[in-house]
Amino acid sequence: MSNVSRRAFIKAFGLAAVAGTGLFGASAQAQRRAAAHVVILGGGIGGSTAAKYTRIMNPDVRITLIEQNAAYITCPRSNEVITGHFTLDDLTFDYETIKSRFDVDVIIDRVVGVDPDRREVRTQGGERVSYDRLVVSPGIDFRYEEIEGYTAEVAETRMPHAWKAGPQTLLLKRQLEALPQGGTVLIAPPQNPFRCPPGPYERSSLITEWLAQHNPRAKVLILDPKDRFTKDVPFKKGWERLYGYGTEHSRIEWISGSQGGRVLSVDPERMTVEAENGMHRADLVNIIPPQKAGKLAFDIGLVDQTGWCPVDRATFKSTQLDDIHVIGDSAVCDAMPKSGYSANSHAKLVAHVIRAELSGFDPVVPTWANTCYSLVGSDYGVSISDVFELRDGLIQKVPDSGAVSPVTDNPAQPLLESVYLKNWHRTFVKDVFS
Ligand SMILES: Cc1cc2nc3c(=O)[nH]c(=O)nc-3n(C[C@H](O)[C@H](O)[C@H](O)COP(=O)(O)OP(=O)(O)OC[C@H]3O[C@@H](n4cnc5c(N)ncnc54)[C@H](O)[C@@H]3O)c2cc1C
Repeated sequence: MSNVSRRAFIKAFGLAAVAGTGLFGASAQAQRRAAAHVVILGGGIGGSTAAKYTRIMNPDVRITLIEQNAAYITCPRSNEVITGHFTLDDLTFDYETIKSRFDVDVIIDRVVGVDPDRREVRTQGGERVSYDRLVVSPGIDFRYEEIEGYTAEVAETRMPHAWKAGPQTLLLKRQLEALPQGGTVLIAPPQNPFRCPPGPYERSSLITEWLAQHNPRAKVLILDPKDRFTKDVPFKKGWERLYGYGTEHSRIEWISGSQGGRVLSVDPERMTVEAENGMHRADLVNIIPPQKAGKLAFDIGLVDQTGWCPVDRATFKSTQLDDIHVIGDSAVCDAMPKSGYSANSHAKLVAHVIRAELSGFDPVVPTWANTCYSLVGSDYGVSISDVFELRDGLIQKVPDSGAVSPVTDNPAQPLLESVYLKNWHRTFVKDVFS
């Protein structure tokens, strides 16, 4: 951000801070209209948290959230929709509370462009919304081209990725229910970095559990380009205990990158997958493709050659364009995983940075945390927690701060972690949407 635009932003906010008095009421609202305008693009986990916390920390500013869908479906717990423990309705949240309780203008429309010189957002419906500060949280998109034969159309019809909760989640569920007895489910996680690093392994686990009950001769095959994955030690211990992993009767098999697990191509007609170790045929194929920043970030010009959005890690301000913060999965955040928990933390930091700039003080040097629970079975959870700090301009783990679930003989341990997961989701969605 240039000094001039920072000064202009502080001036707008500063004047508003003098004029504004309370959160609610017609006169406060009128004052806010005259104040600086924070516009947030994307009403997913990052964007919705940003809308709410920008209001909490900045009572006087005007806030607009622009989201293409009238309601949001959380990916967290969507693996349980595939196995029938949940419905998409259980995971769907609208913007009414953000609108009414936090006095955010919500526009349901698709953003088609941003003019950074005029500081103006354009939507498909023809709206033009000017901003003083823009917060962009568009999630992810897919590098389909890295797997020959795999396209957006194949994902929607034959080989769903289901990596954005919605219709593909339901397609995967139907395909699982229609699996022939004794059939094979093939799941192919991507290379790092990608959204929700433990997600493919949780999905594989829950599908294996479902098959044990409904289709006992069926198997799950994971083809992975990596040799390690997050929480792999407690995951594999859970697979041993629940699914016979490592024995000749195992219901689940994991082929690592060095065993040739990287997927090269797919043939959706024949339902075959070519990996480095050879050709595989399966009855259900769940390819989770390599990923990149959401298309909107590309359209705005926020992405560099990595396919992700570089940011100043202390403020999550874009290093490509002034007056724009990028948060959530699209942002480069080094050791921090691409998770909802992370997106929520980025959003709170940005709300604070905006507050600091409007008040004319320096923002704090941030630290962050991430905690992630996964299910190996319905009543068997595993977790990872880490604390992160800014070191040498990068987000790095605080040494010895984190932990992965220990493997113990105490059956209460994984049971309790599965309860913590359910409680975490309940409180997390409240923090984001209400
Ligand atoms: C199976 C699975 C399980 C997961 N489980 C967990 C978990 O247990 N814990 C956890 O912390 N994380 C979990 N995650 C990860 C989490 O869902 C993401 O990290 C999080 O959603 C990222 O937030 P975001 O704001 O970056 O993107 P999103 O939440 O995807 O939000 C992006 C929003 O931008 C909107 N948008 C995009 N383009 C436009 C446009 N042009 N105009 C208007 N709107 C637009 C989209 O409609 C969307 O609402 C999981 C993910 C998956 C796939």
